[in-house]
Amino acid sequence: MEDKNALVLRRIPYGESDWILSLFTEEGNKISVFAAGARNSKKRFGSSLDLFNLVSVTFDHKPGRDLPLLNEAYLVEGFVALRNDLTKFSAASFFGEMISEFLPEKDPQHKLYQAFLGFLRTMESQAFLPDHFIPLMEHQLLSHFGFQPRFTSCLICQEKLKASQSYYFHGAKGGVVCLACHENTPVAHSVYLLDYVTIQKMLSQLGRVPQDWPKESWGADETLKMRKALEYFIQFTVGKPLKSLNFLSQILLK
Ligand SMILES: [Zn+2]
Repeated sequence: MEDKNALVLRRIPYGESDWILSLFTEEGNKISVFAAGARNSKKRFGSSLDLFNLVSVTFDHKPGRDLPLLNEAYLVEGFVALRNDLTKFSAASFFGEMISEFLPEKDPQHKLYQAFLGFLRTMESQAFLPDHFIPLMEHQLLSHFGFQPRFTSCLICQEKLKASQSYYFHGAKGGVVCLACHENTPVAHSVYLLDYVTIQKMLSQLGRVPQDWPKESWGADETLKMRKALEYFIQFTVGKPLKSLNFLSQILLK
């Protein structure tokens, strides 16, 4: 029997009354467990298996079964305000899906776990979700997965970025190109114009944690431009549209 603290990342209904849960453990592993009877009876697990809850779980590996069987689940920390706010919930769903898509099984990423838990806690503590949390979290997750966007020099001529200039972010390559190189290079994918100040703001975030973000102030325009650039790169890297990102984008438009 195993005993762990984990975040409930996703729930997939199975059969008439069961869930297959995707859990993100404290060690930073993504595991799937089978929660028999969890959907039609609250007796066994209560509401501890709500999405994004931090739970203490025990499970067994049974011979002949593909998935470990969940025995017990106790709530350690819930995010009630987050679950009652559609914008915060949509953001958590998107980043949960991003982790599910990018994180390979059996490749523990404890720092990523801490970043996601910090993000949930910071959202929970805010009256509403500040827009700039989205591109900051996108950048942070991309960096954790080894896809940190290149914002320090032009992808083509390698020249370092210069103050007071603008750059094109190439959505398929995940880096910036200077205006001179851009004019001479045909591009097949979307590009996004970003100014130097916005790029520097993002770079200054490296090494910071979500708990630092409420102090930051980002303009609506720079937030949106950075989001669009990173979201194209994320979808291009995953290789398919992410449903939860589509939903979040619609919520943020309102
Ligand atoms: Zn260049």
